[in-house]
Amino acid sequence: MKRVVLVGGTHGNEWGGIYLCQKWQNTPEIWAKYPFQVETYLANPRAIEVNRRYLEEDLNRCFRSSDLANHDLSSYEAQRAKVVAQDLSGCDFLIDLHNTTSNMGMSLILSREEALDDPLMLQLCAHLLQQDALVRIYYMPQNAKDSPYLPSLGQRELTLEVGPMAHGTLRADLFFKTEQLVQTMLTFLADWERGEAKAYEGELTIYRQLENLDYPRTPAGHMRGMIHPQLYGRDYRPLYPGRPLYVTFEGLVLNYEGDETVWPVFINEQAYYEKGLAMSLTRKEQIPL
Ligand SMILES: [Zn+2]
Repeated sequence: MKRVVLVGGTHGNEWGGIYLCQKWQNTPEIWAKYPFQVETYLANPRAIEVNRRYLEEDLNRCFRSSDLANHDLSSYEAQRAKVVAQDLSGCDFLIDLHNTTSNMGMSLILSREEALDDPLMLQLCAHLLQQDALVRIYYMPQNAKDSPYLPSLGQRELTLEVGPMAHGTLRADLFFKTEQLVQTMLTFLADWERGEAKAYEGELTIYRQLENLDYPRTPAGHMRGMIHPQLYGRDYRPLYPGRPLYVTFEGLVLNYEGDETVWPVFINEQAYYEKGLAMSLTRKEQIPL
């Protein structure tokens, strides 16, 4: 492992990662103790400048191989993605720092299909689960070539999704927890490189992506309801069949009609309203280490 990159500002209004990267850029000497190069990188500078998620389209959906090779795509983000790809492709480990308005604690999102077959990733996740009670592992596999996500540029990668934190704001507790968790990751990677990493046995609890749910809508596609108060803020908590999911503007309760218990995440994420995504459903699983 030669090159580890910490990315902030893939979304220009997610301030936790942005301010951490700016802090680290002022103190590059703190990385000298690691046996690999550590870099920080702000992915969408123009969106950061204007404190918006993006200017024309979501940068974190611009990294499919076919899109990177397509020179007809003209949006700022499509062009910026090509620069980011040139700068970061092939780095050994990429950590992309995000914030969510959902109550997701410190979620490690694994979006690479083979992540659960990779002993380093499994051991790293097991280690991080021990470090902070807010850590969760969210497995959302994508074929690497078709992955639209920025971290897919790395040989290995994860997205650290921290919340709840409103976009364009900061929370000191989560800021310092994020900083601590990133340092713990780097220390583990360094120990792994030196063959000194602690070996965990047993099982790893993960939450596997099942499907995305939209808000209830009218036939014309307009919103007709909201997350039910009994579900609000209950990311990573079990949702049983028949329990309340939404409430319409008229006060009608709409229940979860699936037949298996699920664990919702990204409940009521602000940035996902435009994507028609009210929450993602996951299944809690135990993976052998
Ligand atoms: Zn984000």
